[in-house]
Amino acid sequence: MAHNYPIPDFMRDIANVEVSDNPVIIRSKSHDRYGVSPLLRQMLKGKTADVVVTPRTLDEVCAVAKAAVHHRIPITPRGGGTANYGQSVPLQGGILLDMTAYSGVVSLGPGRVRARAGTLIEDMEIATRKIGWEQRMHPSTKLEATIGGFIAGGSGGPGSVTYGQLQEPGNILAAQIVTMEDTPRVLELEGREAYRIYHTYGATGIVTEIEMPTAPAWDWRETIVAFPDYMDALRFAVDTAKAPGIIKKVMSVQEWPTPHLISAFADLVPEGHSIVSSMIATQCWPEFVVSVAARGGVVVSNTKGGEGPYGQPLTHFVFGHTLLHVRKNDPRRTLIEGYFQATDLPALVERVRANVGSYGPMRLELLRTPDGIAGAGSPLFIYESPEQMAQLVRLMQEAGARVSNSHTSNVRAVGKKGLDASDDAFKRAIDPYALLNPGRYEVDPAADAKFELELPTNSWSERVAN
Ligand SMILES: Cc1cc2nc3c(=O)[nH]c(=O)nc-3n(C[C@H](O)[C@H](O)[C@H](O)COP(=O)(O)OP(=O)(O)OC[C@H]3O[C@@H](n4cnc5c(N)ncnc54)[C@H](O)[C@@H]3O)c2cc1C
Repeated sequence: MAHNYPIPDFMRDIANVEVSDNPVIIRSKSHDRYGVSPLLRQMLKGKTADVVVTPRTLDEVCAVAKAAVHHRIPITPRGGGTANYGQSVPLQGGILLDMTAYSGVVSLGPGRVRARAGTLIEDMEIATRKIGWEQRMHPSTKLEATIGGFIAGGSGGPGSVTYGQLQEPGNILAAQIVTMEDTPRVLELEGREAYRIYHTYGATGIVTEIEMPTAPAWDWRETIVAFPDYMDALRFAVDTAKAPGIIKKVMSVQEWPTPHLISAFADLVPEGHSIVSSMIATQCWPEFVVSVAARGGVVVSNTKGGEGPYGQPLTHFVFGHTLLHVRKNDPRRTLIEGYFQATDLPALVERVRANVGSYGPMRLELLRTPDGIAGAGSPLFIYESPEQMAQLVRLMQEAGARVSNSHTSNVRAVGKKGLDASDDAFKRAIDPYALLNPGRYEVDPAADAKFELELPTNSWSERVAN
């Protein structure tokens, strides 16, 4: 799709920076993994950039920003392109800023690591593990995802059962950004200020460096425990997640028949059994097995990290990866993003399941929050229509879950990020011409009303008192 931007003039201004107007490269970089959503497949069809720019230094990032502002051309930053709300698809064309060549660990020490935005999270893990540390949490896509893309587009993952999601204070230490002013500035944001760029889809600054806290790198055991009864599996997982002395990284509960929809698990898990997939520090293993036996579970897999019979690290079967594997068997299945929080979490899940169990097996990832252990998930259901999806949302809400909208790519409509007037003022100050990923951050009452009509979702950031 041709847009009305002075691309040749822009390219002349940044003559020393790598640029491509090759349509094949433009098409492949204008995509992320939004294909999991039947609604996004419609909404984002045919949206592409006009040009792909790949800066290698901070000076080059600044030069690109300056030229883009001068010619009023939008910029959509991109890391690994693994986001699944379509956030890295340039809605209004323009410049696709591929940050993957701006990579490398900048500094490292006990409890912290700082890296350029285009660094693969796996590369940060390799660096920190050499000194006995690892990321507190990472997306299940850490082999392909960049740290800039995780902070700007993700929310949590393996590790969140212990440290909570990225949004919790202390989970992002600092960020360096380049602004989109006439003369771009390089700003250092520390502490709470760094959260200005969290989950805003690149609309609040081109992120150039991120400093993250790290955790002790334990020797992890990966395990799958099978239970004949789903509620027994869930109660076991919640109690283990709550147990302060058991060091864990993952606590993921999948209702039967999901274990048989994931080909790599099919021979491991007995017919009719639901599973708890978890990562437990080796020194806590004896306590863990005692608890499994007492709760009627059976350990069907127990290996050192990365050596399971399913052929990949267990982190490649949890969070967003569960749906990926299930869709290989049944591409009609999708999910919505329910958030379950209650003093009696199993009772809440049971109520929701009573309302929506007929849609498909429940998927639930456990997360730590300031209010205790919460769950994130929904049934893995066979998509029929937007009305069917909206009805599922309503039924989950009626039973007490909150639901965010993973079938849109606007920050407000997704609803995972709480924005206030100070965020809006920050956005206006650093991007006065609204050129950063336009369509993703702006208040658009018409669009928001439409999303509410289509999917009656609510924000995860409004915590429920209980
Ligand atoms: C199978 C699967 C499993 C997943 N599991 C998880 C999970 O466990 N947890 C989770 O949180 N997410 C998950 N995701 C979503 C996604 O993989 C992660 O959020 C990932 O961290 C995104 O990183 P990326 O480099 O691919 O970002 P991209 O997709 O390239 O970008 C994501 C967003 O960040 C913006 N962005 C990228 N780089 C910059 C930058 N330097 N400056 C400013 N903005 C920038 C983009 O414009 C876009 O809006 C999953 C996705 C899939 C397909």
